[in-house]
Amino acid sequence: MDLNFTSEQMAFRSEARTWLESNVPSEPLQSFDTKVGFEEHRDWEQKLNAGGWAMVPWPVEYGGRGANLLEWLIFEEEYYRAGAPARVNQNGIFLLGPTIMEYGTDEQKARFLPAMASSEEVWAQGWSEPNAGSDMANIQASAILDGDEYVINGQKTWASRGAYAHWLFGMFRTDPDSKRHHGLTFILCPLDAPGITVRPIEKLSGKAAFAEVFFDNARVKAENRLGPMGEGWGVAMATAGFERGLMLRSPARFQNTARKLVELYRETHAQGELIDASVRDGVARCWMDAEAYALNTYQTVSRMMAGGKIGAEASLNKIFWSELDIKMHELALELLGSRGELLPSAPAAKGVGDWLDGFIFALAGPIYAGTNEVQRNIIAERILGLPRK
Ligand SMILES: Cc1cc2nc3c(=O)[nH]c(=O)nc-3n(C[C@H](O)[C@H](O)[C@H](O)COP(=O)(O)OP(=O)(O)OC[C@H]3O[C@@H](n4cnc5c(N)ncnc54)[C@H](O)[C@@H]3O)c2cc1C
Repeated sequence: MDLNFTSEQMAFRSEARTWLESNVPSEPLQSFDTKVGFEEHRDWEQKLNAGGWAMVPWPVEYGGRGANLLEWLIFEEEYYRAGAPARVNQNGIFLLGPTIMEYGTDEQKARFLPAMASSEEVWAQGWSEPNAGSDMANIQASAILDGDEYVINGQKTWASRGAYAHWLFGMFRTDPDSKRHHGLTFILCPLDAPGITVRPIEKLSGKAAFAEVFFDNARVKAENRLGPMGEGWGVAMATAGFERGLMLRSPARFQNTARKLVELYRETHAQGELIDASVRDGVARCWMDAEAYALNTYQTVSRMMAGGKIGAEASLNKIFWSELDIKMHELALELLGSRGELLPSAPAAKGVGDWLDGFIFALAGPIYAGTNEVQRNIIAERILGLPRK
């Protein structure tokens, strides 16, 4: 791996930077957990798509730019540097998209990927059920093949952006006699199909960040199955690898937070405030950790470009980025002191930014995309070769 960028990569960076500078909205969009904000984010995605920046590593015919993964990392760095909006269709473009690319038929690729790149269709992830969270192999929602349709019954929960999404991808038990991770099938469901009810779940803020989805004899075309029937677990593990290890949380996100943390430290220091040496050391450590994560990702991507796959090490990444995110937000709140608790709209909130909001979301990092306890189990068994407990 060569740590220097080529002239083509530098030209790519400069093209992305120029486009983002003249197109990123000057005012932040409303939260995509509100109907208005959701539509604002879709408009932004359409602009990205029209500029050819919706999903840079995808093939051109599916709405991408045909770039490689290293260029994707470069684009992400520029995206965060420009303060561009969060991606409302992240479940689609970062998780399902790569899975369809690997397991989908040509018809499925042509049907779903361009509409995903433009966010004409926004996707929710339907893994969790009331009794299948960490223990995902306990999925009970069933899909029974009847002619050329699956008849689906059961419930999914905690589907992020499910309140407004158009489609949901999930795993369903297609063999009623099967147990655990056997007999499960990966199915793509239109959320407006008869028999599907979407009930928003609000956060304490009142915003509908999640949804629970009920299936009552809902009928979904069999052609919406992704990968072989009964082998959905293997397909879903590829999606989970993208989620934990690479696509969902690119290093640029954490490098950007680390940069803002260093700025906050400098401003606080310049105001003559006494800062505990442990906080100063913590800030330096976080900056180095974010850079180390970026270098590690460059290495993973180089390996993948040479034909390698991301495996159980995705679990190491997931623990690393989720714990780093919490550490950075804790340090920021320590630097801000009691001002850190002010709402951004409060008169004395100048310079406080959105650290508190970020802290609250960071706390969810060790839970979503598979809890960190479960990632530690995976590392123990599959990387360290320890026996199952
Ligand atoms: C912000 C956020 C967004 C989410 N978005 C989605 C989404 O879009 N789609 C979706 O399907 N789900 C989503 N989820 C749900 C998430 O995937 C689950 O919360 C997660 O898998 C944990 O499941 P659970 O909540 O049922 O907790 P449980 O599985 O009941 O776990 C409770 C506790 O027990 C621990 N535990 C459980 N089993 C073991 C074990 N074998 N060894 C050690 N410890 C264990 C867990 O680590 C955890 O600390 C989201 C969650 C959050 C917080």
